[in-house]
Amino acid sequence: MAETTSKRVADFLSREVPLFIGGQHRKSLSGKTFETPNPATGKTLATVAEGDAADIDEAVRAARAAYDGAWRDLTPSSRGKILWKIGDLIEEHAEELADLESLDNGKPKLQAQFADVAVAAELFHYMAGWTTKLEGNTMSLSTPYAPGAQFHAYTLREPLGVVGQIIPWNFPLMMASWKLAPALACGNTLVLKPAEQTPLSAIFLADLLTEAGLPDGVVNIVNGYGETAGAALAAHENVDKIAFTGSTHVGKLVLRAAEGNLKKVTLELGGKGPNVVFDDADVEAAVAGAADAIFFNQGQVCCAGSRLYVQSGIYDDLVAGVTEAALNIKVGDGLLPDTQMGPLVSSEQLERVSGYVQQGLADGAVPTAGASPVSGPGFFYPATVLTNTRPAMSVVTDEIFGPVLVTDRFDDATEAASVANNSIYGLSAGIWTKDVSKAHTFAKKIQAGTVWVNCFNILDASLPFGGYKQSGWGREMGHEVLNAYTQTKSVVMML
Ligand code: NAP
Ligand code: MG
Repeated sequence: MAETTSKRVADFLSREVPLFIGGQHRKSLSGKTFETPNPATGKTLATVAEGDAADIDEAVRAARAAYDGAWRDLTPSSRGKILWKIGDLIEEHAEELADLESLDNGKPKLQAQFADVAVAAELFHYMAGWTTKLEGNTMSLSTPYAPGAQFHAYTLREPLGVVGQIIPWNFPLMMASWKLAPALACGNTLVLKPAEQTPLSAIFLADLLTEAGLPDGVVNIVNGYGETAGAALAAHENVDKIAFTGSTHVGKLVLRAAEGNLKKVTLELGGKGPNVVFDDADVEAAVAGAADAIFFNQGQVCCAGSRLYVQSGIYDDLVAGVTEAALNIKVGDGLLPDTQMGPLVSSEQLERVSGYVQQGLADGAVPTAGASPVSGPGFFYPATVLTNTRPAMSVVTDEIFGPVLVTDRFDDATEAASVANNSIYGLSAGIWTKDVSKAHTFAKKIQAGTVWVNCFNILDASLPFGGYKQSGWGREMGHEVLNAYTQTKSVVMML
C-alpha cells in the first residue's frame, strides 16, 4: 500500500476528522462518526464526524450570523483579497491536497495535483476578480400611467443570503471550489455538505480558509449522509438557496425538499456525453481524445464522453485504436507515480459499474477491452470498450459513471445528430473533424451545455458549465454563475 509522505496529511488522517462550524472544529452533536476507506485497499483511511440535521441547524445559524455580521461589513475589495489568498494557499498546499484526494477518492495523485487542485486554485483566483465588478444598471422609465413624472431608477445586485451546497465525490476539492468561490464572491455565506465517500479535502481546506482571513461562520462544512445531513440542508427553512451537484435522481429529491420555503435551486446533474467522430477527422488525435474522454478519472466524470459515435468509414480504425489505448492503461494505487487509472471510489460504485457491463453483455454487447473486474483488494475496474450496442440498451441510455465506453457507427451528420441527442441528458459532447464549417454547423445541432471540437474535457473558470435537458438547471463558472448567487433589486425614486 502506498502512503502519504506528508506529515501534515498523516497527522490529519490520524485524528477524528471534525465538522467545521462557526470557524471551529467540532465533533458532531450526536457524537457519531463514520469511516472513509482508501479505495485502493478497501481499508479504513480516517474516522470522520458524522453530522445530521442538528449539526446542519447549527451550521445554518452560524452562516446566518456571519451573513448579518462580519461578512456583510467587508468591502468587495477585501472579499476579493481573501478569495485570492485562498487560491494562493491551495497552490501552496497542492501536494498535500493531491495526496488527500488520491487517498480518499482513488484518483492518480498527479492528476489530482494538475487537474483537481490547480483548477480549484484557479477558480478562487478568477472569482476574486468578480467581487469588485458586481454592478447594477440605471434605467430611463416611461411609465404610461404616470405621465410627466420623472424617476431615478436603478438596480442593485445583492447576495441571496445563506446558501446550502451539496457536492459529489468525483472531484471533491474541485466541486467544493466551484461552489464556494462564486458564492463567496457574491457575498453569501454557506453550509457545504461533501459526499460521504470523500469527506476529507473540504475539512483540510477549512484551515486554509481561516488562514486566508475568512471570518468565522462564513463557510461551514458538515460531513454526513445525504439522506440525513443533505436532506436537512435542502429542506432547511432558513437557507435561501441550494446548489446541488450529483445524480439526476437525487437532484429531483433536492428540488422537492427545497419547495417548503421556495429557496432558489441550481442543479448540476449527470450526463451521457456523445463523442462524434467524422471520417475527415485526424484519427490519431480522435483515438487519444476519445480514450481520455472516458477513462480520465476512472470515467467518474459527469461530462465524460461515454458514447462514441464514429462515421462508418473509420469506425473499425477508431475502435481498434481506443481498444489498444484501453488495454495499455496502467491501473493501480493512485499514489504510485506510474498509475494512469486508480480504483473506483467505493465498493458500491464497483458493483454498479460491473452490474451495468454484465447487463450490457447479456443484451448482446461485445467487449474489445476490459469488462471484468480486476481481482481485489481495492475497488478496481479496467478500462472497458463495448461494441455491437443498440440504442435501447441500459449501457447506452444510463450514466454508468465508470470507465465504460459504448460505441456505434453512423453514416451522415443527420444520423449523427439524431443519435447524439437521443438521451435524457445534455451536459457535454465532442466533435472530431477537420472541416470548420461542419464543426460549427454540428455544434449548433447538439443539445448540450458544452461542445468540444477536436478536444474533450477542457474546462475553464471563464467558461459557463452546465446542462441542457435533465443534466441540470443553471450554470457554474464564468460570469454566468454570478446570476446563480445574486438577486436583483429595482430601486425607483420619484424626482
Ligand atoms: P448522489 O447520491 O446524487 O450524491 C451527491 C450528493 O448528494 C452527495 O453529497 C450525497 O450525499 C447527497 N445526497 C444523497 N441523497 C441526498 C438527499 N436525499 N438529499 C440531499 N442530498 C443527498 O450521487 P452518488 O450516490 O454519489 O452517485 C450516484 C450517481 O450520481 C453516480 O453513479 C452518477 O451517476 C451520479 N453522479 C454525478 C456527478 C456529477 O458530477 N454530475 C457526480 C457524482 C455522481 P452522500 O454521498 O453522503 O450520500
Ligand atoms: Mg474514501
